[in-house]
Amino acid sequence: MQTETTRRGIRRELELARRRGQRIALVPTMGYLHEGHLALVDHARRQADLVVMSIFVNPLQFGPREDLARYPRDIARDTALAEQRGVDYLFVPTDVEMYEHERPAITVVANDLALPMEGHFRPGHFEGVLTVVAKLFNIVQPNVAVFGQKDFQQCVVVKRMCSDLDFPVEIVTAPTIREADGLALSSRNVYLNGTERESALQLSRALRVARECYHQGERATDALIKAAAAVLALDSAVHPQYVELVDPRTLQAPDQAGDDSVMAVAALVGKTRLIDNIIMGSTDA
Ligand code: AMP
Repeated sequence: MQTETTRRGIRRELELARRRGQRIALVPTMGYLHEGHLALVDHARRQADLVVMSIFVNPLQFGPREDLARYPRDIARDTALAEQRGVDYLFVPTDVEMYEHERPAITVVANDLALPMEGHFRPGHFEGVLTVVAKLFNIVQPNVAVFGQKDFQQCVVVKRMCSDLDFPVEIVTAPTIREADGLALSSRNVYLNGTERESALQLSRALRVARECYHQGERATDALIKAAAAVLALDSAVHPQYVELVDPRTLQAPDQAGDDSVMAVAALVGKTRLIDNIIMGSTDA
C-alpha cells in the first residue's frame, strides 16, 4: 500500500493506473477505521482493480458546536488496518491541502434532500459532505465509489449529486455492519461509557421492532414510527432527535410503507449523537 498526502501525488499515481486501463474504486472515510469501513474496502475490491481509501476529517461538514476537535484519530492504526485489508492507495491530505482558502467560495448544495433528518439537525452538513466528495471525485476520478447504508441520507444526496451534476462515478451502497448485539459500528461509539453503550442499543432495537411490525402487515407510516418511538422512550438516557420513515429517493414520507421504505433515527445518548436506519423489507439479523 502506498500513502499519498498531496492531490498532485495521488493524481500522478492514478493517472498511470488509468492509462494501464485499471478500474479505480474510492472509499471515502474520516478514519478511526472499524469493520464498517473495512467492509466497504471488500465491496470496492469486487468492483475495481485498484482500491483508494481517503482519510480526511472534513472540517466543512462539522457544525460550530459539533465534535470536530475531539473526533477520534489514529492514523498509524488506520494505515495498518487499511493495508491488511488490501487498500492499494491511502490518500491522507491535510486541511490546507484540501482547502487552500479556509472557506471555499464555491460549494455544492443539496436543496430539498438536505432539509429533513440530518440536514435539519445539522445545518450545512451536507454542503460540507458534497463539497468534499465532489473534490475527492475530481482528485481521484474513480469509476466507482462505495458508501455505507449507515449514513443513508448521505448515500441519497451523493447519488443525486452524481446524476444532477453528471459525475461519471457509480455509487455503490454497502450494508450497515453491526456489533453482535445490533449496535451499528461507528467511530463515535468510542465516546460512549458503559451505561451509554447499553442505552445506545435502543436505536437498533427500535428499528427492528418497527420492521417486525411491517413484516406482520402494518403499512401505516404513523403506526410504524410510533412503534419505534415507543422503544426509544423506554430508556430515559436516549434523547431522540427524529424518527422518520421515508422513500429512499425523495426522502418524503410514503402514504403506505413499502419494502424499500427506510426508517431512520437519530438520538443523543449522553453527549454522543448516534444515527441508524433500517430498510423495511430487509430480513438481515
Ligand atoms: P465515516 O468515516 O464515518 O465518514 O464513514 C466513512 C464511510 O463508512 C461512509 O460511507 C459510512 O457510511 C461508512 N460506514 C460507517 N459506519 C459504517 C457501518 N457500521 N457499516 C457500514 N458502513 C459504515
